[in-house]
Amino acid sequence: MMKREEFSTRMSFQYSVLLDLLSKNDFNSFRSYSHSYESYVKSWISERIKEHFSEVSTICEFEDSHVQTSIDNINDAIKTAKAETTDSLKTFVENICKELGDKLVISQDALGAFMILNNADQEQFAHWLTESVKDIKEALSEKFKKTTIETKLRHLQMNPQNELFNRVIGCGKQCPFCKVPCDAGGREHTKHFASLHRPQGFGNYSWIDSDKLVTDICSSSVISDKNFHCSEMKNKRHPFKDYRKIFPDWDIPPDRSLEASDFWKFVMTKYNNEFAEAYKAKPADIPKSWRKITEQQAKESLKYAFEVRGNYYFPIRGSNRFRKSMDR
Ligand SMILES: [Zn+2]
Ligand SMILES: [Zn+2]
Repeated sequence: MMKREEFSTRMSFQYSVLLDLLSKNDFNSFRSYSHSYESYVKSWISERIKEHFSEVSTICEFEDSHVQTSIDNINDAIKTAKAETTDSLKTFVENICKELGDKLVISQDALGAFMILNNADQEQFAHWLTESVKDIKEALSEKFKKTTIETKLRHLQMNPQNELFNRVIGCGKQCPFCKVPCDAGGREHTKHFASLHRPQGFGNYSWIDSDKLVTDICSSSVISDKNFHCSEMKNKRHPFKDYRKIFPDWDIPPDRSLEASDFWKFVMTKYNNEFAEAYKAKPADIPKSWRKITEQQAKESLKYAFEVRGNYYFPIRGSNRFRKSMDR
């Protein structure tokens, strides 16, 4: 499983999940991804595990039928060779090989070994050969049994789904505003950090006066004079610049020049109405330039983030219990 591209690194995993999400072309998937990131991603991993093992099972079934055909060929060859009268064991073995033809090629080296047995009883030899073939068949069938994989999975000490989740999710904490996941690897970091944040509307933030979903990203908000309020402060206004007082675990580097990726601009433009309805807010004022972004450009921006920047930003669970909003 770890060798599969999407599970090779955290970046690669996040890229695969987002690309898959985009190709699904379905708001409900985006919503469930945004609402319950952890469970969406866990079930996504489950699906990949099932897919992977059903591929392995198919290979095993194929191997099993292959084994059966080879065994039948060998038994037929033994029967035919037995029917012919031969004066030596060598000729007998050669006849078997001839019968098998190109169905089963036996190396000349292996044949040479039979010369030592030239005085052995032919009938007895045929009997033990048939017995050995039976043993081989049983051993191989056992090896390729479909249930073997499932049984193995059931008896694993670790849960592959959780193991993969821990490996590809990292710390799993999300930005308090846009819900982007923490980029810092492992669990031992003092501050959560994300290289690029996304429109805060994905984190269920809307403007207090208009109720419209917010398109700003966190790195510019924390340098602005805007305020925010959320359930964590019992809906009291708080300056964005001082967000650390409320969320001391997060480090959001201030940078006015940063923009959301084309991917998130495209998603927000496409599902603006749907997100607004789901979050019980009004649709965001989408900047004109966002409307020009194509699906292809969204994909490319994802690839760019994946290959060049090596960082990710994606939507996560938004709390619907409390309305979070901000004013200008
Ligand atoms: Zn953020
Ligand atoms: Zn973290």
